[in-house]
Amino acid sequence: MPVDTLAKSIRIRYQAIQKEVDEAARGAGRNPDSIKLLVVTKKQPLSILRATLAAGVELLGENYPEEAVSKKQALGAENKVEWHMIGHVQSRKARLVAEHFALLHSLDNLKLARRLDRFSAEFGRKLPVLLEFNISGEASKSGWQASDKLNWDHFLPEIGEILTFENLDVQGLMTMPPFFKDAELARPYFRQLRELRDYLSLQYPQVKWEQLSMGTSGDFRVAIEEGATYVRVGQAILGARPI
Ligand SMILES: *Cc1c(COP(=O)(O)O)cnc(C)c1O
Repeated sequence: MPVDTLAKSIRIRYQAIQKEVDEAARGAGRNPDSIKLLVVTKKQPLSILRATLAAGVELLGENYPEEAVSKKQALGAENKVEWHMIGHVQSRKARLVAEHFALLHSLDNLKLARRLDRFSAEFGRKLPVLLEFNISGEASKSGWQASDKLNWDHFLPEIGEILTFENLDVQGLMTMPPFFKDAELARPYFRQLRELRDYLSLQYPQVKWEQLSMGTSGDFRVAIEEGATYVRVGQAILGARPI
């Protein structure tokens, strides 16, 4: 498909989802401007990326640092797109993330934080990050285990240490609930992330904890009702991912 035809259909879906985001925000008594719609382009080829940019999208979410950086380089620096990393990052990829991404949504361990802090210093920047929590307890999910509120104090020493790193700017939390056909079933997981944010705000009032990154194609409306400030939507805008 020519890029402009593709761009047109992506723009239509993007605008429809943006409208739903705004409506969900208003319905929840929130300012729509407080919610940012990230378009998730993982595994999508350059042709789709080009069309996505042509459709006017300015916030992209990618899961794999090398894939993302090669796309970013192929597309060139002239666009004003922000690239966000939303997937699990291995420690040895910390340098790539510190160099190339506007925000890391998925900081999930102390060792990675240490390396990101060091590389960010080398690049002369302060890297914005969100801390990822595993609310569902599923073994397949990354993040600090936070399914049981009685255990929330267990990760405080690590979080406390991360907050001392001068080249990381901790802005909030991220989670990925289990997949449900009925989005309503994801609500308790989103709510628990918000409650965890409130808990961390009491522990560390010097940090703003402003951002909650939660909600994907199937459940972003519920996530917005529970306080999401970033929603990460792929398939509902770009269609199915190539396998
Ligand atoms: C793939 C992915 C998304 C987007 O999921 P869709 O179903 O395509 O909307 C969001 N967040 C993370 C962490 C992902 O890996």
